[in-house]
Amino acid sequence: MPKLTILEDYCKSCGLCVSFCPKKILKVSDELNSHGFNIVVCIDEEKCSGCGNCTVVCPDAAIRLEQTTVDSRQLTAKSREAVDSWQSTAKSKEADGR
Ligand code: SF4
Ligand code: SF4
Repeated sequence: MPKLTILEDYCKSCGLCVSFCPKKILKVSDELNSHGFNIVVCIDEEKCSGCGNCTVVCPDAAIRLEQTTVDSRQLTAKSREAVDSWQSTAKSKEADGR
């Protein structure tokens, strides 16, 4: 089973991992870290598929994953896919003036 470790003090509550988790098991909690940011928590680790999305999109390297189910080449491709998708969403929001 994949093992997820959230390095609480690195988290800046951006919510990217929450958006990119296909299992919807990550959530920004009410708890604050030592820098005053709300910490992300995993609400059901049993459901984690080990896809690695959360680790690749986190800009602060706050999530570690062991026993991932994808190999590093797949992870790189997935990372590129996730970042491309995030950038195109950000661009279209910018174009719409949102
Ligand atoms: S590894 Fe995948 S399924 Fe598990 S918490 Fe991260 S994004 Fe969600
Ligand atoms: S992507 Fe990283 S910094 Fe952003 S909310 Fe998730 S764990 Fe925190």
